[in-house]
Amino acid sequence: MPFFSQDGELVYCNDIPGLMTKFNIQHDASEWRLFIDSSKRSFKAVLLHNGNRYASLPVGHSVYLIERYENLDFILNKIKYSDHAWTICGDLKVNSMLLGQGVNTKYPCFLCEWDSRDRAKHWTKKVWPKRTSLVTGSKNVLRESLVEPNKVLLPPLHIKLGLMKQFVKALDREGDCFKYLEKFSGVSEAKLKERVFVGPDIRRLMKDKAFESMVQDNEKEAWNAFRDVLKFLGNQKDPNFKRIVRKMLIKFKDLGCSVSLKVHFLVSHLDYYPENLGAVSEEQG
Ligand SMILES: [Zn+2]
Repeated sequence: MPFFSQDGELVYCNDIPGLMTKFNIQHDASEWRLFIDSSKRSFKAVLLHNGNRYASLPVGHSVYLIERYENLDFILNKIKYSDHAWTICGDLKVNSMLLGQGVNTKYPCFLCEWDSRDRAKHWTKKVWPKRTSLVTGSKNVLRESLVEPNKVLLPPLHIKLGLMKQFVKALDREGDCFKYLEKFSGVSEAKLKERVFVGPDIRRLMKDKAFESMVQDNEKEAWNAFRDVLKFLGNQKDPNFKRIVRKMLIKFKDLGCSVSLKVHFLVSHLDYYPENLGAVSEEQG
């Protein structure tokens, strides 16, 4: 109890190194990453151990606060983020807010000035002007950044889900695969195009022999290449990971997939991925 306090609608850990000491753990900020997310029921900040050898440590929780810049600033202050500067793993929306950027805008990438509306260039132009600094007021930077941009990890789970979404969107609606996925996921055709497949769905589908035998031609090539990438996004970075990802991107392009921000990270920022990708994923449990 002494390690947790309440301020308004937030309950937070007031002494993270002290709490870890109680569990005989010497706090080393480089061994932990801060995960922030919200659902309909709660807004939470949790420390995850890189490699997940230790259990996760909830450090901030609220059932009233909503996901917005001011509240992220509030939580970071309460848990004394600036003293520790953990790496950050969250979804792209949280990352954008932490960096003071807007969402769903022309320049959604925090690493470069990728123009999300210049669709004609998405598959052909890989190198965009780098963001040298996040200057408030320019190119979608609305507020002062709350964390150092180089602390922000690209979230493998969300990118995986984003790839799945683009794959499903590009499938022929009248084809067997699309119809099979309707049955597989239990949603109607209209909803399937926008359906978000979650991690367990994708794992189940990867093992599904019926689906495997059903995909043909371009769809089959894209599916097989995607499966290879999932191995890399879920675990150790394969020594051939660049080749594997580039192959998948070519197949996705051939299938007619669009480049979303998540796909863009693979097209343009493969070097940004850390070696221990699986160990620092935002995918828990
Ligand atoms: Zn970029």
